[in-house]
Amino acid sequence: MENNMLDDQDFLVASISQLSISSNSSQPVVARFRPEWLQFDLDSDSNNLVRFELRNSKLFKLGPSQSVCVSEASEVNKEKNYSRGITIQFINEEESRAFHCAFEQRKKDVTVQGSFLPNGTVLSKSKFEDKIEASSAKMYFHYYGQLLHQQNMMQDYVRTGTYYAAVMENRADFVDRVVVDVGAGSGILSLFAAQAGAKHVYAVEASDMAEYARKLVAGNPLLRQKITVVKGKVEEVELPEKADILISEPMGTLLINERMLESYIIARDRFLIPNGKMFPGLGRIHMAPFSDEYLYTEIANKALFWQQQNYYGVNLTPLHSAAFQGYFSQPVVDAFDPRLLVALAVSHEINFMSSKEEELYEIDIPLRFIASVGTRIHGLACWFDVLFDGSSTVQRWLTTAPGAPTTHWYQLRCVLSQPIYVMPGQEITGRLRMVAHKAQSYTLDLILSAKMWGPGAEQGGILQTSSGKFDLKEPYYRMSQPQAYPMAQEQTPQQLLQTQDLPTLSQDEEGSDLLQ
Ligand code: SAH
Repeated sequence: MENNMLDDQDFLVASISQLSISSNSSQPVVARFRPEWLQFDLDSDSNNLVRFELRNSKLFKLGPSQSVCVSEASEVNKEKNYSRGITIQFINEEESRAFHCAFEQRKKDVTVQGSFLPNGTVLSKSKFEDKIEASSAKMYFHYYGQLLHQQNMMQDYVRTGTYYAAVMENRADFVDRVVVDVGAGSGILSLFAAQAGAKHVYAVEASDMAEYARKLVAGNPLLRQKITVVKGKVEEVELPEKADILISEPMGTLLINERMLESYIIARDRFLIPNGKMFPGLGRIHMAPFSDEYLYTEIANKALFWQQQNYYGVNLTPLHSAAFQGYFSQPVVDAFDPRLLVALAVSHEINFMSSKEEELYEIDIPLRFIASVGTRIHGLACWFDVLFDGSSTVQRWLTTAPGAPTTHWYQLRCVLSQPIYVMPGQEITGRLRMVAHKAQSYTLDLILSAKMWGPGAEQGGILQTSSGKFDLKEPYYRMSQPQAYPMAQEQTPQQLLQTQDLPTLSQDEEGSDLLQ
């Protein structure tokens, strides 16, 4: 049979045997999945075939490359079928693994898809479908299906290099272990895991990138026997064995954007053995108030367009306040100078090993800061880090902190339309509430307050309060080059961010710095 007659989901089988049929011919048998059937073509023109109704069939492993498929008696189109079984001899172990994955997946598709409960509700395929809008998922997986976006992530050397180092220095956690790569993309992390000596890696990828991952794996002969690419969502695919360790890069802007952490946690519950490892195992969101007059003015000025009273004879001002609010509802993504921070950061930890998926639907973080300088606070700056904590003594962090080498995540700032005035040592309180939405992102509600300073403060403690609502799905990518900050070169970001004595900047110094 010509190879080009095989589709992606066809498998070459050395032979199958059944009580009444034995395929002794020299022709290889082709196993094909048809929507409701598993079909074995015994000759090239499909005249001689054996069919199993997927709904009633079960597949058992007899050995690394031998399995038995049993079909229970059923009634199809009033015709009675009798229980049957065949032994399948695969041409190799890899083909056997891939066949088992495809079988379980197809079987699930026919049994679950379009099923109705007695009350008439349609059973959805997975949790993913229940909570994510189809149009959002379509755009999302289209994006990741393109090589240029995978390349962009791969070229973030801070990101990819940290993963590589974390895997290699924790080889002991990979050697002879079964690994699942959650959202494998190009398959790069699966290839790292195979390099580190994994017994087998299942690279699960929902977008069309899975096809490219197969190509990439196939082109790396030393590693390819160890990797099976499984196309589908981690919420939906079936794997033939449990994993000792999960590896994944599920982080979006502010850690939680894209809602892929939920998929990582679902993958943990579906595939990981009890007490298995996760790379990374936890993440933290860090938040601190910042002062940035230039950014504030830039955003406020964007709406000036709508201040025109005679735009081709039209008065635009009725829309000015809506436009102003619109610009202030976009979180700003760029790399900023850590000296813009005006207090020690507050952190919120998400433990991927123990969190429940539902805990990510709404994240409410109380905020309390002490201003290190007298300034105008323009909002809240946020960044994140994740930890690889394997059996090596090194605890490796991947950080996106300001002042640390820039990553493709940059940092995120929520700018308030009403700045807050503070004096050194003054307390700032508030909260950041993040509510997940169906378009794979979050709505952020920020509120910051400071007690009024000066006369009257002792008596009543009058509050200045400022709040804003932001859609994490619609950021403003500002991407200015990281500002020069010579003194930061000699200090680690940790020192910088944790010092109580952040330098006091006059507006002039701050301005000249930013203009560089
Ligand atoms: N692991 C790769 C790609 C990371 S980007 C790397 O580190 O370079 C995240 C990938 O996860 C994307 O390719 C995306 O399509 C995939 N993905 C996101 N949600 C998924 C899900 N629920 N099931 C399977 N794949 C998913």
